[in-house]
Amino acid sequence: MPDDSLSPDDLFALPPLEAGAPKTTFPDAEMFADAAYQIVHDELLLDGVARMNLATFCTTWIDDRARRLMDESIDKNIVDKDEYPQTAELERRCVRMLADLWHAPDPATTPGTSTTGSSEAAMLAGLAAKFRWRKRGGKGIPNFVCGPVQVCWEKFARYFDVEIRQVPLRGERLTMHPDDIAAHCDENTMLVVPTFGQTFTGLFEDVAGISQALDDLQARTGLDIPIHVDAASGGFLAPFTAPELVWDFRLLRVKSINASGHKTGLAPLGAGWAIWRAAEDLPQELIFDVDYLGGNMATFNLNFSRPGGQVVTSYYEFIRLGRVGYTRVQSAAYSVAQHLAAGIEKLGPFQLVHDGDPMRGIAAVSWTARDGQSFNLYDLSDRLRTRGWLVAAYPLPADRDHETVMRVLIRHGFSHDMADLLLTDLHRALTQLDKHPPTTSLTQEEAGGFTHSATPKISTETLRHTTGLDR
Ligand SMILES: *Cc1c(COP(=O)(O)O)cnc(C)c1O
Repeated sequence: MPDDSLSPDDLFALPPLEAGAPKTTFPDAEMFADAAYQIVHDELLLDGVARMNLATFCTTWIDDRARRLMDESIDKNIVDKDEYPQTAELERRCVRMLADLWHAPDPATTPGTSTTGSSEAAMLAGLAAKFRWRKRGGKGIPNFVCGPVQVCWEKFARYFDVEIRQVPLRGERLTMHPDDIAAHCDENTMLVVPTFGQTFTGLFEDVAGISQALDDLQARTGLDIPIHVDAASGGFLAPFTAPELVWDFRLLRVKSINASGHKTGLAPLGAGWAIWRAAEDLPQELIFDVDYLGGNMATFNLNFSRPGGQVVTSYYEFIRLGRVGYTRVQSAAYSVAQHLAAGIEKLGPFQLVHDGDPMRGIAAVSWTARDGQSFNLYDLSDRLRTRGWLVAAYPLPADRDHETVMRVLIRHGFSHDMADLLLTDLHRALTQLDKHPPTTSLTQEEAGGFTHSATPKISTETLRHTTGLDR
C-alpha cells in the first residue's frame, strides 16, 4: 500500500503541511514551493480584509491595469536612473504635475521627488528646513511648531535632533489655531507645520490663517518663519473638491508640501511626494548626483534602492483620471462620507466631530459618544470586529484626551452600499451592547489592533500618537 501521507497530489497531506511552519530558527530543510506558498497564503487569512479596514488612510482598491503595471515594474529599481530612464522620466513628469496642481510658481523647474510615503517626505522637508535655518545663521537646536501631528513628525524631531513644539488645544479647538502660534515661535523656529487633513479627526488646519498669523508676527518682530504643509491626504483631495481653499504654494510662506501617493493619490502602497516651492528652498547639501544617460541627475532621498512601480502607477492614475476623473472619484468618496455621517448621527448616541464636509476636512467621518452610554467606543470597535469591520477608536489629543473618538476613512472603493452595510452593523452592535451592557468596558489596548506595539512606549504623549490612527 502506498503511504497516503507522501502522495504528491494532495498538498495538505505532504510532510511540510503536517507540521507547523518554521518559526524561530532559519530552517535547515527545503520544501516544495507550492507547500511553502500554501502555508504563507493560509497564514495571511488571519489578517483583516483591507477594504473593510476603515482605520487606514491607504489605498485598498487597485484596478487591474495598475496591478499589471506594478507587476511589469516589479524588477525596476527607481534609483537606477541610467538603466531605467523612462521610469525616471515618469517620476519627473509626476513632480511637474503636482507642482502645477499645488500652484508652484514655475512647475517646470520645481524641485521634488517621490518617496516611500509621507514619512520620508516629511523627514526630507524637515531636513531642508534645518539646513536653511542653519544657513541663515541659526545656532543650537532648532524647533518647529505644530498642532496634533502624525507620529512621523515626532520621529523626525527625535531622529534629527530638532525640538517639536506642539501647540496644546484649548477648549473646543481640535486643530492648531492661528491665534496660538506666535507664542510658540522664537528665533530658533525653523518651520511651522500645519496638517492638511489631521490624523485624529480628519479636519484641515487653517493654513491660510496660520500664514497670516506668521505675516503679523514678522511685521511685529522681524521673524520670518516658513511653512511646510503636511498634506498627506488633503493634497490629493482639496485641489479637486475644494479648489477655492487656499492652502498650497499660492501662500508665499509655504516652502514645501508632502503628500502620500498611496493615500488619496490612489497609488498602491509605497508612494509619497515631497515638493519644494523653488530651487532655493531645497539646500544643495541634500542633493546627491547619480548617473543618468551618461550625465548626472539630482537625487534627494533617505533610501537608495526603492521599487519603481509606485511611481509608474502614480503616473498612470494621473493621466488616466486627470482633474475631471480625480474630481469624480474624490467627490464620490465625500458623498459616501456625508451619507454615512447622516446615518451615524441618526443612530442617537453619537456627536459628530467631522461630517465629511470637503471644505472642513478629508473624506472621513469622526465622532464621539454622548455622555451616559452603557458602553465605550472601544467596546463598539470590538463588536464591529466580529463582522469584519476595522474601525479605529482612540483618545483625542491633549487637553481633551479624556474623550474618545471613533473615525472612519472613506476611500476609493468604499461604496454607498458598503456604508449602508456598516450602518446596519453599527445599529446591530448598539442593540447588542444595549441588551448586554459590558460589566467592565474594554481599554484601548484590549480593543486591540489600533496600537503599534513595535513603537517604544516612551511616554503617554508618544503613545497618544501611535494609536493606530497614524496609518
Ligand atoms: C499618513 C500620514 C503621515 C505618514 O504618511 P505615510 O505615507 O504613512 O508615511 C503623515 N502625516 C499625515 C497627516 C498622515 O495622515
